[in-house]
Amino acid sequence: MKLFILREDKGFMGPTKYENDELIFLDEDDGRDNPSDNRGYWNVLLVDDDEEIHSVSKLALADLTLNNKKLKFYHAYSGKEALSMLEELGEDIAVILLDVVMETDDAGLVVAKKMREELGLFQPRIVLRTGQPGYAPEESVIKEYDINDYKTKTELTRSKLVTTMIASLRSYHQLRVIEQSRVGLEKIIKSSANLLEEHSVKGFSEGVITQISSLIGLDAGGVLCARAGSVLDQEDDSVYVLGAAGQYANFINEKLENLNDELIVEKVNYCLRSKQHIYRDHYTVLYLHSSDYEAAVFVKIGSKISATHRQLIEVFLSSISIGYENVNLFHQLRNAAFRDWLTKLPNRTEFINMLDTAKATGCDPKFNTVALIDVKHFSDINDGLGQETGNKLLIAITERMREAFGLKVKIGRIAADVFGVIGERSELTVEKLSEIFESPFQAGDHLLPINITAGFCDVSQCKSTGIDVLKQANIALNRAKKSVTSNFEFYMPEMEEKTTWRLGMIRQLRSDFSSNKLEVWYQPQVDLITEEVVGMEALLRWPTGDGFISPSVFVPLAEYSGLIIDIGAWVIEEACKQLHLLQQKGKENLRVAVNISIPQFRDPQFVSLVKSIALKYQIKPQNIELEITESVVMDEPQIVVDSLKELKAFGFTIAIDDFGTGFSSMSYLQQLPLDRLKVDRSFVIEVTPGKSAFIAETIVTLGNKLGLLTIAEGVETRAQASYMLKLGCDEAQGYLFAKPMPFDALCDFLERSH
Ligand code: C2E
Ligand code: MG
Ligand code: MG
Repeated sequence: MKLFILREDKGFMGPTKYENDELIFLDEDDGRDNPSDNRGYWNVLLVDDDEEIHSVSKLALADLTLNNKKLKFYHAYSGKEALSMLEELGEDIAVILLDVVMETDDAGLVVAKKMREELGLFQPRIVLRTGQPGYAPEESVIKEYDINDYKTKTELTRSKLVTTMIASLRSYHQLRVIEQSRVGLEKIIKSSANLLEEHSVKGFSEGVITQISSLIGLDAGGVLCARAGSVLDQEDDSVYVLGAAGQYANFINEKLENLNDELIVEKVNYCLRSKQHIYRDHYTVLYLHSSDYEAAVFVKIGSKISATHRQLIEVFLSSISIGYENVNLFHQLRNAAFRDWLTKLPNRTEFINMLDTAKATGCDPKFNTVALIDVKHFSDINDGLGQETGNKLLIAITERMREAFGLKVKIGRIAADVFGVIGERSELTVEKLSEIFESPFQAGDHLLPINITAGFCDVSQCKSTGIDVLKQANIALNRAKKSVTSNFEFYMPEMEEKTTWRLGMIRQLRSDFSSNKLEVWYQPQVDLITEEVVGMEALLRWPTGDGFISPSVFVPLAEYSGLIIDIGAWVIEEACKQLHLLQQKGKENLRVAVNISIPQFRDPQFVSLVKSIALKYQIKPQNIELEITESVVMDEPQIVVDSLKELKAFGFTIAIDDFGTGFSSMSYLQQLPLDRLKVDRSFVIEVTPGKSAFIAETIVTLGNKLGLLTIAEGVETRAQASYMLKLGCDEAQGYLFAKPMPFDALCDFLERSH
C-alpha cells in the first residue's frame, strides 16, 4: 500500500493547508499502477436540484488536482436522475456530493440507500449536503449507507469543500487499491490452486508464466528454466527450458542456449547463481525455489514491473513454490514408473507412450521407424561375469547409441537385454546398427564383443496405437532371432497373420491335449529280409472334426510353446502301456520307437521320467527306441549327448531320424551312443527303376562302417524295398508295408501278418 503526503511546491506544509496543494506518492513510483490513473480524472457526481449549487461547487473544486488528476464533473438534478447516472458509471464515480432534499424530503437518502443496496456500488464516497439542518439524517443512516461526510450547505465554505473532497477522494483511492489487491490475490489463490493440481513439469511451468502475465495484466512471453539434474534426470548440469509461453513455446525440454538469445541465457544463469529476482526495464527474471529445487522465470515485458505488481508476483511465487516442489516429486514418481533405473532411459511403458506420440503427430518422418535391438547371449554375460558387468555393459551400450544417434533417435530400454529406438528410416539402417555394435564394449575390466538381432517396423504402416507398433517390431525381432540367415528382419503383415494363427493353434492344442483328444498311432517297421514286423514307430495324431492336423504342422508349435514336454511324456507312456498290452497278447519282442524333441532333453526330469515309465510297464529298455533328429543333436550337443549316454547306459536304443537332412557334424555323431540310422524318405524316393540313389547308398555304407543298423523310411514301392535291401539296409518302414494306424488296427494287423 502507498503512503500519501501532502506537499507544496516550496516545501512541506501542515496537513491543514490544502489550497493549491498537490497530493503525491511517497516513493519514487510514477504511480502507473494506480488503479484510477487509467481514466485520468476523478469522476465527481454533483446531485442537487439547485442549479446554483452546481456551478458554485464546480467553481470551488475546478483547480483541484490530486495525484496528477483533475476532477471531472457529472451533474444530476434529482434523485432519480442521480441513480440512473450511477447505474451507468458504476464504481468509476469517485465522490458524490448529494443533496438530501430534492423531489422528496429524503430523495438524497433514497439515492444513498439504493446505490449501496440495489446497485451494489460500494466504492464511490458520498458527501451529503443539506440546506436545512433540521433534515440531518440519523447516525444509523450514515453508518448504514457508508456516507463519508454530512455537511449543511452553509458549513461548506470553499476550503471546507476542497478538504472534504480530498479526504473523500483519498478514501475512494484506497478502496480501489484494496480492491485491486483483492482481485490480484484472488487470482493468485486461484492460479496457485490450479498449479498445485498440476503434476507435469511442463504444465506447471507454462502455467507459472501465464499466471505472471495475467497478474501484471500484460501478455508476456517467457521461459521457465531449471538445471537438468534436478528434473530431467540428465547427467549434465546445463540449464533446460521446462516451460514456455509465446515465442519460446517451441523450446521446451531444450537447452537454454538453443534459444539463441544471449540476454536470456545470461540473465537466467545470473538469477540462478545469485538466487534473487532481477527487475529491469524490459525484462524480469524471477527466482523460484523450494527446499530442493530451484528455477528461474524469465519474463519479457514492455516496461519495468511496478512495485505493486512486484509485490503480487512475489506473493505468487512464494505461494507456488510448494507447487513446484510437488511437481518435482511427482516427476520423480513418474520417473520411477516410466524410466529404467539403470540406464535412465525411458522404460517399456514410456517407450509405448513415445510411440503413441509418434503416431499422434501424424507419423512425423523424423520418427517413422522403430527398431527393437536384442543383445545376444546377454544372460551368458550376466551368469558368467556377474550382474555388475552386465549392468556396465548395458550402460556402455546406452552411451554408444546416444553418441551415435544424438538427438535424432529416441532410445528406450524395453526389456533386460532389449533396447528400442525410434527415428528416421535413414538413421535406423542395418548398416548403421551393425556399425554401432561392431567394436567391443568396455564393461568394467572386460572388453566384450557383442552381437545383436533387431526387428524393424514402419510406424506409419501401423494403423493402431503405440503398443501395436511395439508388437509388430517384436514380431520382426522374434523372426530375426529364429532366422539362421539374417539378424535383422523388417515387420511384414504376413508375419503377424502367422503369429495370430500360431497362437490360436497352440491354444487349441493345449485344450485338446488336456481333454485327451490326441491319439498315438503306430506304423509298423519290418525286417527287409524276412519282412516280418520287428517294431513300430509311435506317431502323434491330432484329430479335428473332419480329419487330422499333420504332426509336421503342430509338433513344431508344441515345441515352440513347450507343450511338447507334457505331450511327449504322454506319448512315451501310451507307447509303453500299449507295448505292454501287446506283450500280454504274446507279441514279446516288438520294439516301439518314440520321437523325442529338444525341449524334452532340456527338461531335467526327462531321463528319470523315461526310465520310470519303462519300469512301470515292465518294458525291457532295449524295446524302446528313442528317435532324435540330427538338428536336435546340433542344437545343444552337450545336453543331448549327456542324456543319451545315460539312457543308453540304462539299455534304451537310440536312432537318428531323418538322417542325411541335418548337416550333422561327424565329430558329434561319433560321440553319440547310437544304435540305428534312419535313412530319410527323401533319399529313398530317389530310388526309381534303373536309377541308383547315391545318398541312400552312402548313408547305409556309413552306418555299416560305424557299426550301426539302418532302417529306410518312406518305402512305398517294391523297387525301393529291394534296392535298399541290396544296399545292405536292415529294416524298412513305409506305406508299402503299412501306413500309421490306431492301436486297435495295429493289433489286427499284427494278428493278420503273423
Ligand atoms: P518322422 O519321425 O520322420 O515320421 C515318419 C513320417 O513319415 C510320418 O509322418 C509317417 O506317416 C510318414 N511316412 C511313413 N511312411 C511313409 C511313406 O511311405 N510315404 C510317405 N509319404 N510318408 C510316410 P507323420 O506321422 O506325419 O509325422 C511327421 C513327423 O512328426 C514325424 O516324422 C516326427 O518328426 C513328428 N512326430 C510325429 N509324432 C511325434 C511325437 O510323438 N513326438 C515328436 N517329437 N515328434 C513327432
Ligand atoms: Mg520318427
Ligand atoms: Mg523320419
